[in-house]
Amino acid sequence: MLDATIGVIGLGANGSQILRILAARGASVLGIEQSTSPNDRSGHAGETRLISTIVPDPGPDGEDPILSRVGSAWDRYERDTGHSVLTRTGALSIDDADTPFMRGLAASARRRYGDDRAVLERADVAARFPQFRLDDGQIAVFDERGGGVRSEYAVSGAVQAARRDGAAVVSGVRVLGWATGASGVRVFCSDRDYRFDRIVVVTGAFVGDLLPELAVHARKLVMAWFAPRTDAVERFSRPDMPVFSIGTPEALGAYVYGAPSFDRPYVKVGGDFDWGYAEPPSSMDFALQERDLVGLRTKARNHFDGLTDSIVRSVKLMDGWTPDSEPLIGWHDPDARVALATGFSGHGFAISPVIGELVADLVTDRQPEIDLSRFDPARFEVGHSSVRSPALQLR
Ligand SMILES: Cc1cc2nc3c(=O)[nH]c(=O)nc-3n(C[C@H](O)[C@H](O)[C@H](O)COP(=O)(O)OP(=O)(O)OC[C@H]3O[C@@H](n4cnc5c(N)ncnc54)[C@H](O)[C@@H]3O)c2cc1C
Repeated sequence: MLDATIGVIGLGANGSQILRILAARGASVLGIEQSTSPNDRSGHAGETRLISTIVPDPGPDGEDPILSRVGSAWDRYERDTGHSVLTRTGALSIDDADTPFMRGLAASARRRYGDDRAVLERADVAARFPQFRLDDGQIAVFDERGGGVRSEYAVSGAVQAARRDGAAVVSGVRVLGWATGASGVRVFCSDRDYRFDRIVVVTGAFVGDLLPELAVHARKLVMAWFAPRTDAVERFSRPDMPVFSIGTPEALGAYVYGAPSFDRPYVKVGGDFDWGYAEPPSSMDFALQERDLVGLRTKARNHFDGLTDSIVRSVKLMDGWTPDSEPLIGWHDPDARVALATGFSGHGFAISPVIGELVADLVTDRQPEIDLSRFDPARFEVGHSSVRSPALQLR
């Protein structure tokens, strides 16, 4: 006797969306979450996640196929759940004009609009977005389709909508492993065994506890909320302050990103610093040390006009990182019993409602609208033709 046709393991950013969409389509589905949905120890914690839809290498159509679907997918999410989660502030990307990243971003923006309207010089940024301080030689690209999503609230809305549509959910139950056979999948959990026809493993940075052989590493990330100077409070309270990224992504120690807090005038700043990896993920120490915040304070001083050194809140979290910073999405086994959707490498929230639709297609034998082969979970296996050298070296 099956507990449900499809089991979703992990109800965070992507698992909650997969569960919601499967339930809305009338599938028999049960979600298992080791904690609660949402929770403060997973990749989706920390108030907001950025959406930015212009990328340097969007492909032949000039737009990334997943990012171009993100806006309408969040609109569908909001209609379905009744949770208003997306604030379309726009996204500002700042970098030296001559980096390959910024040249690519500016070229994509020019291609989208057919002119220079989204490429801002230093003086343009000073006039329009006085919160930011650009260096000589830096420019910005403004993506008007970008913004911020309330991340925990979005997970909460997805799980509640899934329950409304008939999904079963068990919380506080940890998946310890599974076995596949001709009759389906038996999932071993901290309370009992569950049986499904198929499962999707969406356990975020914790995937290494279950599948240590995967090329996904639990990378630590820190974010801090800064208070402004009294004379700058108005500037950081403005509703049109965009979400932002400064520098080339994954340039360790040089890249920062963030958003105006919903608790304005505070500003949330995160960074691509080397806070290390949690191996195994269950060994993660979530406690922050003062030294974790030094780099973020320096960046807040350098890149903003009007923030103080005062941090009112901070978090240390993890996300699962792959060598090419692309997720693993597809079947893990030859019998198509166990699907993976993991390794979102620091950008798995904005795209989560699109991923939910694609994975729901995959596990119900519908042809996904987007070709998933670039996310093939086997691409890092020894002997696979697309094995690439790791972009980030583990320390
Ligand atoms: C600090 C930080 C900033 C980020 N900024 C952005 C951003 O601006 N924009 C963006 O798009 N992305 C961003 N990301 C990335 C994004 O948040 C993650 O990629 C995304 O949350 C990953 O989604 P997920 O569903 O894979 O994992 P999660 O959201 O982490 O969910 C996994 C869930 O699985 C559960 N689980 C784990 N193991 C088990 C088990 N054995 N049994 C049962 N349940 C289990 C966990 O408790 C958790 O609830 C950021 C990530 C971090 C950490």
